[in-house]
Amino acid sequence: MAGIFTDASPIPQNGKVKTAEIVSVGTELLLGQIIDTHAPTMARVLAECGIACQRRATIGDNFDRLVASLKESLSRADILVTIGGLGPTMDDLTRDAIAAALGDELVRDAGYEAELRGWFEKRNYPFAESNARQADVPASGRMIENPNGTAPGLLCQKNGKVVVALPGPKGEFNPMAFGPVKTFFETLGGGVIHSRTLRVIGIGESAVEEMVAEVMGSENPTVAPYAHTGEVHLRVTARAANVAEAEALIEPVQARIAAILGNHLFGTNETTLEENVLELLAQRGETISVAESMTGGQLGARLTGVPGASRGFLGGVVAYAAGAKTALLGVSPETLAAHGPVSGETAIEMAEGARRAFGSTFSVAITGNAGPGVEPGGKPVGKTFLAFASPEGTRVEEFQYRGIREDIQRRATQTALTMLRETILAD
Ligand code: ATP
Repeated sequence: MAGIFTDASPIPQNGKVKTAEIVSVGTELLLGQIIDTHAPTMARVLAECGIACQRRATIGDNFDRLVASLKESLSRADILVTIGGLGPTMDDLTRDAIAAALGDELVRDAGYEAELRGWFEKRNYPFAESNARQADVPASGRMIENPNGTAPGLLCQKNGKVVVALPGPKGEFNPMAFGPVKTFFETLGGGVIHSRTLRVIGIGESAVEEMVAEVMGSENPTVAPYAHTGEVHLRVTARAANVAEAEALIEPVQARIAAILGNHLFGTNETTLEENVLELLAQRGETISVAESMTGGQLGARLTGVPGASRGFLGGVVAYAAGAKTALLGVSPETLAAHGPVSGETAIEMAEGARRAFGSTFSVAITGNAGPGVEPGGKPVGKTFLAFASPEGTRVEEFQYRGIREDIQRRATQTALTMLRETILAD
């Protein structure tokens, strides 16, 4: 897999690339009671500073396991970042564990201890002696100011290694991570690791990989494909002195990929498929309406989620019961009786009914069985019909999706947008 950052390892330049590991501390993380949102934040900060984060670990509030994990990280990485466990209580072990892993004594900062006591006194809070632990600093370290809490962060530098410890609460972690810690990392890192995501539709991951094979071996930027529901994302990652230089490296590779994939490339970074569909409609002065059964309004919701959707989206009908399909969309009772609500014939009449009712250029209809049950004589779980009504006529396609109800609904909505885009582009 030459040329792919399989573990975000960048291309060494002048031997300057620093590696990092992140250790999140807390039994509540291991129990699944809280989600570790800080580690990804820190990983982004590191990447933005050109530091290669190569591993993340989560350790419970257990001193021996924590020390072992920190030692292990320090044996591999240049920089170790710990998250949480810096508070005053008995289960806050990070400070002691860092000292142990570095072979440092903990030295109490008398000035900060006095500050802490004053802080409690001013608020008339009783001062539990355990609070003074927050003034302990490993001998090779110093405090990182925490303007939003009582537990300061730590920055230790010893034997060519750097350890940064940050507190867990978000209101304390974020300002420190994006403030002094990022500023410090910028002085260590060798530039930036910067990515742009190219969003591809209508072809599978392996086919995309084959088509863009010529750029897959590129070393800087690297190109890596990721499969998402109904989309493939190509992450193009460059390493450079700054973001502008990284963008300049990405640009020609993106242009080459765009030339190869043509219309299949629909956007970059956060651009969504629905945004792209509405943009295409706006460019052409065309409009869309939807008729939904199985997806209960999800397609309409994705379209209206785009600011300014009213330029192209006229409206939708959620017609779930057979009677609603007839009353609101004009689906004939004979069609329903002969073919059932989950059928190509019903889908066609739903799409045409919506197009008539809204007077839109295009209309999409979705009908299917999202499961988990099957009605007697009904269609199997996952069976879905999508119909597209346009000035050229109406076409229908049949699909068999797998997965749970939510997956089937999401896949149907995604396919509807994909095919709608094809219909608009073919127009
Ligand atoms: P404190 O000074 O509050 O004791 P601390 O450094 O000891 O800070 P923890 O006790 O480990 O932090 O965690 C405090 C809270 O911070 C947790 O209950 C949780 O809400 C949040 N938190 C901790 N770690 C993380 C994390 N990795 N991701 C998201 N939130 C976290």
